[in-house]
Amino acid sequence: MSQRIEHAGVEGLRVGRIRSQLTTACILYRLGDTVIDTGPPNQWRRVRRFLKERRVERVIVTHHHEDHSGNLARVHRALDPQILSPPGSVEPLAAGFPLKPYQYLIWGRPRRVRAEAVPERLETGDGVTLIAVHAPGHSDDMTCYLEPERGYLFTGDLYIASKTRYLRADEDLSQQIDSLRRVLELDFDTVFCSHRGVVRAGKEALREKLDFLESLCQRVAHLRAEGRGIKEVTRMLLGREDLMALITGYHFSKRNLIAGCFEVGEGRE
Ligand SMILES: [Zn+2]
Repeated sequence: MSQRIEHAGVEGLRVGRIRSQLTTACILYRLGDTVIDTGPPNQWRRVRRFLKERRVERVIVTHHHEDHSGNLARVHRALDPQILSPPGSVEPLAAGFPLKPYQYLIWGRPRRVRAEAVPERLETGDGVTLIAVHAPGHSDDMTCYLEPERGYLFTGDLYIASKTRYLRADEDLSQQIDSLRRVLELDFDTVFCSHRGVVRAGKEALREKLDFLESLCQRVAHLRAEGRGIKEVTRMLLGREDLMALITGYHFSKRNLIAGCFEVGEGRE
């Protein structure tokens, strides 16, 4: 499936293999001659059609995950723009990184590509400034891009939802909370999320997510103090595991989120 997005000078394309599942589709955004993220590898034909509409001077990714960086190598070959990524993504993009079976099935396997590290402040030829804001937690290299003139924040996978119920096994919840706090100090209104799309009251949405995670951590700390374990607390606060855990082989699970809250609690002691 593919869906066009248009918001005040920013064009987006949502692409994905599975129609009904919003979070498995990924959005690439275009402002002027700059493109942020590239969609999953198995969506290349739709992505190419979208990119060929205008001249692309540079492509920047928010992090190395296959649904965001998946077409970088092909974009490089087809359109030869400047390829930029967060400094921490350069190595996994060049060397490749392991995929779980569900990732391969849903998004496909990206080809390796050599990217340049994005500068902290990027001035594009058509007058757009993008400030790279490192926001680890979802992944070590996760980076948001702030467009200060219009108050836009391209958040990659920092947001996705205010009330998140799962955590990826390799995500660091305490880093994620710190990143949300830091990002909230920036001056922006509109969030461009790679999965949710355009979030007009973006700052409020990010604050809601931070509040939700902090209050979840507090509730978990309380139950932990009563001597309850991760499994029991997961059941009590988030209910049984669902299809998400099953499909991803527990790579995404409720239990991971509660375990993350336990770790946050231990870190604060
Ligand atoms: Zn990701």
